[in-house]
Amino acid sequence: MDIQEVAKSRFSLKKDDMVQVIAGKDKGKSGKILEVSAKTGRVTVEKINMVKRHTKPTQKNPQGGVILKEKSVHYSNVLLMCPKCNRGVRFGIKMSEKSGEKTRVCKKCKSTLSDK
Ligand SMILES: [Zn+2]
Repeated sequence: MDIQEVAKSRFSLKKDDMVQVIAGKDKGKSGKILEVSAKTGRVTVEKINMVKRHTKPTQKNPQGGVILKEKSVHYSNVLLMCPKCNRGVRFGIKMSEKSGEKTRVCKKCKSTLSDK
């Protein structure tokens, strides 16, 4: 069966996927996807692209202050992690002839990534 290139790979990224960052200041780091925005093609990855945010004083924190929060990155800056290759790789989509179900397949080792 042919494995097709995923041109719009953003649609193959899902919440809770492990991805590796391939560009920017966090290049080489990996983390779990917290949020996917198909509209903008951006993903928020745990502990990646942390930016400082100023917070207003609250009852809990009367001083207010600076907290660190994830800023979303463009999907083209991350690669889906393959548990077998233990690194970010390109994935293809394999469609089951029977059910028409789509499975993500690692282009390197050809193992499928099970959806949780
Ligand atoms: Zn692999």
